Amino acid sequence: MKIDVLTIFPEFFREVFDFGIIRRARLAEIVEINIHDIREFTTDKHRMTDDRPFGGGDGMVFKAEPIFNAIENLMGTTEREKYPPRTRVVLLTPQGRVFKQAMAKEFADEVDNLILICGRYEGVDERVNEALVNEEISIGDYVLSGGEPAAVVMTDAIVRLLPNALGSETSAENDSFSDGLLDYPHYTRPADFRGMKVPEVLLNGNHAEIEKWRRQKALEKTQKFRQDLLNKENS
Ligand code: SAM
Repeated sequence: MKIDVLTIFPEFFREVFDFGIIRRARLAEIVEINIHDIREFTTDKHRMTDDRPFGGGDGMVFKAEPIFNAIENLMGTTEREKYPPRTRVVLLTPQGRVFKQAMAKEFADEVDNLILICGRYEGVDERVNEALVNEEISIGDYVLSGGEPAAVVMTDAIVRLLPNALGSETSAENDSFSDGLLDYPHYTRPADFRGMKVPEVLLNGNHAEIEKWRRQKALEKTQKFRQDLLNKENS
């Protein structure tokens, strides 16, 4: 998979994809991540990426032109229909569909070229949305100063689901949300840490019992914190 991130703050990403699973996936060429400075695609001498809103009001608006230029340069065409198959252009915005594990899986399975547009200011000129974007995505019901943290969140969640991204010692199968439940509690050595003991069932080697206990704990946690997940329609 190739992920292209469009931002006015490329420095933000300098090291963020250089750790753990994402780093390994990049080195193994499971994913290629490129960061593009939208400012490089401005055409005026001040390299402006924002301007005042039509109709008045507070703040500035991200101009359409540098984003169009950046994407057209990336795709090598001004015609949307000529983008390679399995390309998805995403605008990160608090107004979008809220990103969930099922969406991460869908992107990992169905997309080869992912373009993430990081907004700034009061938001992005709506014509970007109208002409270029397949989908508006939010990472949650709060307002960030820019789309960059959202791009990191989406990238991380998707890349770990790409085939072979997780080492054989890890699996996403039991992760929270994959079966509609939160993950069960984990323990490691020592079995007694400052008097706090690991549940006996995990020490007895009875795998059927361990599975039953884990399922029960996952259910209890989900019931306590995320009742909404127990209703399949919302998960
Ligand atoms: N005026 C906008 C609104 O109220 O919907 C908020 C703009 S926000 C200050 C600037 C940029 O941050 C947005 O264009 C978007 O790219 C990004 N952003 C903010 N919150 C986000 C979220 N929850 N998910 C994804 N991107 C977000």
